[in-house]
This record gives sequence, C-alpha cells and structure tokens, in this order.
Amino acid sequence: MKITIFGTGYVGLVTGTCLADVGHDVLCMDVDADKIARLEGGEIPIFEPGLESMVKDNVEAGRLRFTTDPAEAVAFGTLQFIAVGTPPDEDGSADLTYVLAVAETIGKHMADYKVIVDKSTVPVGTADRVRETVAGALQARGAAIDFDVCSNPEFLKEGAAIEDFTHGARIIVGTESERVKTLMRECYAPYIRLHDKLMFMDVRAAELTKYAANAMLATKISFMNEIANLAERLGADVEQVRRGIGSDPRIGYQFIYPGCGYGGSCFPKDVQALARTASDVDYQAELLTAVEGVNRRQKQTLFTKLAGAFEGQFAGRTIALWGLAFKPNTDDMRDAPSRTLMEALWQAGAKVQAYDPEAMKECRRLYGERDDLLLAGDRIQAVKGADALVICTEWKEFRTLDFAWLKQQLATGVIVDGRNLFEPEAVKAAGLRYFAVGRGESL
Ligand code: NAD
Repeated sequence: MKITIFGTGYVGLVTGTCLADVGHDVLCMDVDADKIARLEGGEIPIFEPGLESMVKDNVEAGRLRFTTDPAEAVAFGTLQFIAVGTPPDEDGSADLTYVLAVAETIGKHMADYKVIVDKSTVPVGTADRVRETVAGALQARGAAIDFDVCSNPEFLKEGAAIEDFTHGARIIVGTESERVKTLMRECYAPYIRLHDKLMFMDVRAAELTKYAANAMLATKISFMNEIANLAERLGADVEQVRRGIGSDPRIGYQFIYPGCGYGGSCFPKDVQALARTASDVDYQAELLTAVEGVNRRQKQTLFTKLAGAFEGQFAGRTIALWGLAFKPNTDDMRDAPSRTLMEALWQAGAKVQAYDPEAMKECRRLYGERDDLLLAGDRIQAVKGADALVICTEWKEFRTLDFAWLKQQLATGVIVDGRNLFEPEAVKAAGLRYFAVGRGESL
C-alpha cells in the first residue's frame, strides 16, 4: 500500500518505519526542514531503541522516503496519517492547530480518494473538525472529491515504541465506513496474522479510548504515590504494600510503582485535556483533577525531601542528579520530574551536576550554558564534589551502586531516590541518609 505520514516525531517516524518494514511504501512529510534533512542524511533526530537501523534498512530498500513537499505527500498515499503534535493550549485543552493545518493541506492538494487517519491524540469530535476542514479546502477550489476520516489512536510508549507498535495489545480504528475498514485491515494485516486484534468502533469511542487509557494509567500512578506518601507518614514500607496489592490479579503489578511523579509528552497533557473536555460538556471530572493535582505535588517531593535534609539552606550546595529523561530508554524531557527539581534547586541557589545516558543533548538544548548546571560525562563525574545525590530516572545503569564509595564522595551523605531503586537498610548501613518514596525516613 502507499501510505503518507504527516509528522516525523516519535509517533510519525515509528509508524512510518514500522509500516515500511512490513512492505508498505511510505512517504513521511514534516514541516521541519532541518529534521527531514537529517533523516535524509541517515540521522535519527530522536533516541528510540532499534529505530535507527530499521530506518536505514527501509530507506535502503526504497520503501521509506522523506519530504517537506506537501503536494508530493498528499499525492502519494491513499492513507494519509496525521501524526503531528497536539500540545496543551493555555486552558489545558488539546491545541489542534497542527492537526487542522494538515487537514487543510490535504484538502488543498488532493486529486483522488483519500482516507485521513487521525493518529495524533485528539479530543472527541476532532474527526468531525478534520472532515469540515478538508471539505472547506476542497470547496474553496471548487473540487468535489470523495474522502473519509477515521480515528486510529496510537498506544506506543517511548523507549519500547517499535515493540509496542508491532506487538501492541490492540489496534483501534474508529469508523463506520466499510471501505475504510477494508483499507485499514489491509494496512495492518501483517500485524494481525496470529490473532485479530483489530477493533473497529465508532469514531467518538475510538477518540475517547485513547484518553481513557492514558487517564487510567496516570490514575494508577497517582493513586500509588498517594499511598506512598501515606505509608511514609505511617511508618509502613510502600514497596511491601506494592507487592501485597499487585499479587491480586484484579489489581496487577503494572503501573503501581511509587515515584517522583509522571512526566512525558502524554500523561500530563492528556489528563488535562480530558478534564477540559469534561468541563466543556458541563461535567466536573473530579477524579481527573485530583490525579493531576497529586502528580503536580509529587513532582515537588524530591526538592521537599532535600530541603528537609538541608533545613532549607541551598546556597553553596551542589546536587548530583542521575536521570534527566522522564523515563528510561528515551531522551524525552517533556514535563520530566528532573526539570521540576532542577528549576527549584536553581531558584533556591544550588548548583546541579547532572548525568543521563541519553538526554544530555536535550538538556543542553532546553537550558543552554549556565553556571549552575554542569552536564557530567558519566554518573561518577556527576557525583564528584556534590553534597547530595538525587535519582530521578530508573535507568538500568543506576541500579547498582557502591554505597561505601558514595559515602566518601557526598559531603552530607544524603541520597534522595525518586525511584526506590535500593533497599533502605543496605544504604543506611554504609552511613548514608536515604530518602526514598514511601519507605521510612520521612521529612
Ligand atoms: P512530536 O512533537 O515528537 O512530533 C510531531 C512532529 O509533527 C514534529 O516533527 C513537527 O515538526 C511535525 N509537524 C507539525 N506540524 C506539521 C505539519 N503541518 N505537517 C507535517 N508535520 C508537522 O510528537 P509525538 O510525540 O510524535 O506525538 C504526536 C501525537 O501522537 C500527539 O498527539 C501525541 O499526543 C500522540 N502520541 C504520542 C506518544 C508518545 O509517546 N510520544 C504516544 C502515543 C500518542
């Protein structure tokens, strides 16, 4: 099949590359000329395990190409995937500017039947707005060409995006059209040979499914963080509680790890956008508002713990920071807890020495050169001369630590672990003061 993808970010590039890998002919279009030039030169603008070689193989095989030319992109595929960003607007609702700009482009250039596939995460009712925008653009040039719009939300996670795309639990397509169903079945046929995980549903149900899934996962995280904060104050170990409740199959172990709050490009904005959608239809989404509030507070917990240990005195302090990305296996720092911490530390007059296996470039791009930020070459360098260590991201390489060595490095012996990587007794035995989430020493 010939497929066009608009947007070459995490979702667009992974979708395009995976679809090319199963034999489709894919053309990826982006308005960011620099990104397209880098992709054409074989450089992958994001870090995603396995993606670089997959892009290279499919470019070499001639099945994957890139362009900035909208007319070429619209002419190419029968399926036109929209995979552009939907960032939060000032009021928390999803900003549809980019999605509707693509719809306008398609309406302006199309010359034959197209299926416009909304892969971006968009509020309920967006398919109607895309349809109206395409129809308006067609009308403006006096053209009458048939087209359909369907919803095909994406459930991949950064860090495991290829695995999720190719072996996801389900593929959801919102459409009432038999013609669209046939084409989407053909597109995804290589992934549904073993068992049919293609689910067709109404467009509005498909749009809401994506938000409901992310809101449910965010709720599990905030719920567990609430329990952790309680455990800390009640003298219970939340890690034992986690194992205790996870063993119940109705609850399960996934997404119940307490920590320093969720970040990334999806959960914060999608929970907010769903709450906003609710208020647009005069429904007060109290649970969603609480999930967001608990998370906002949780992102401040690392700073609060440090402030307790230092009695609020940060001037002249240097804090080592392990992990900048919002989670392991990505370089994405959007809404990351590390940013809340760093910004609070700078505000309080402290210096930060940070290390992350993949997100150093992104950190430099976000914050530039500044006197109170040292980007260290490795985790050992980050700790040199620091007063305390804070762990923000559970990268594999942070999971082992020589506590006796660390005690010699850290002036105050304070370690704040936002991911509960270690056993408190082992850390304390080395003479360190250990502040994890919901596990003992509470400030
Ligand atoms: P991103 O910001 O990484 O990439 C978006 C890309 O779209 C950018 O390269 C941008 O230049 C391009 N773009 C903007 N306007 C364009 C236009 N008119 N034509 C062509 N390209 C254009 O975004 P992302 O993380 O890939 O997310 C895309 C959508 O998918 C969002 O709605 C997001 O909520 C959703 N989503 C993201 C993830 C994730 O893990 N990142 C997972 C599932 C769903």
